[in-house]
Amino acid sequence: MPTQFAILGSGSGGNSAYLETDKTSILIDAGFTCSQLKARLESLGRSPENIDAILITHEHGDHIRGLQVLSSKYNIPIFANRLTIEAIEKQTNRKLDFVRFQTGSSFEIGDIVVENFSIPHDAQDPVGFNLRTPHSVIGILTDLGHITSAITQKLRDSQVVLLEANYDKTMLELDRNRPWSVKQRIMSRHGHLSNNAAAEFARNLVAQRLQHIFLGHLSRDCNTPVLAHKCMTSALLQETCALPHVHSTFQDQSSDWLIL
Ligand SMILES: [Zn+2]
Ligand SMILES: [Zn+2]
Repeated sequence: MPTQFAILGSGSGGNSAYLETDKTSILIDAGFTCSQLKARLESLGRSPENIDAILITHEHGDHIRGLQVLSSKYNIPIFANRLTIEAIEKQTNRKLDFVRFQTGSSFEIGDIVVENFSIPHDAQDPVGFNLRTPHSVIGILTDLGHITSAITQKLRDSQVVLLEANYDKTMLELDRNRPWSVKQRIMSRHGHLSNNAAAEFARNLVAQRLQHIFLGHLSRDCNTPVLAHKCMTSALLQETCALPHVHSTFQDQSSDWLIL
């Protein structure tokens, strides 16, 4: 069976992605309620009963909303680093079934090799992932204020990347609902990636092996799927005429399967 990948949903209202191989099924983040996660998995013909592990990038609510219920109801171990585990335990006031990993390490879950690496974001110890399956390499890079050369290096052989494209800079600057302090936090080096920053990063990767980009974590008010898509493709066209596939993700519904 090939590797299959889908985004169950992405945005500041919740984030979760699903990856499966012949032998292993994992969830990356659990930012929707347990019943939402179950419904979205079922819409793809899958069920929480078959999930072997949940990987956590960081402890913000839009990444762990359904974690406690999902993990305890279906006995799924949660993989996270120490500071993230401590932060989640503080929030939930519960001892959950955690498996601790070291930031910067790599480990195996079934036939998937999981590499994790530090990313700059205003959480305790946020990480990105590079997931090596028998058929492909998939990068998860969401919730980060800027890209470092170490991050680019980590994802240099990824064929698929879930990449944050949070905001359009002009829309954020003109937004009337966010106070200046919030805008500053979003745009800071430990905030979120803009469309332009995501496109710049993808330009650096595209000469390597990149085939699919999922644009993730779009702001509802300060971005649109069309703008994010346009910004990415026009930047990539300056670099190559063999464009990778640029996929949109949605807050309210799952993406289609990507079969690798
Ligand atoms: Zn987030
Ligand atoms: Zn976050």
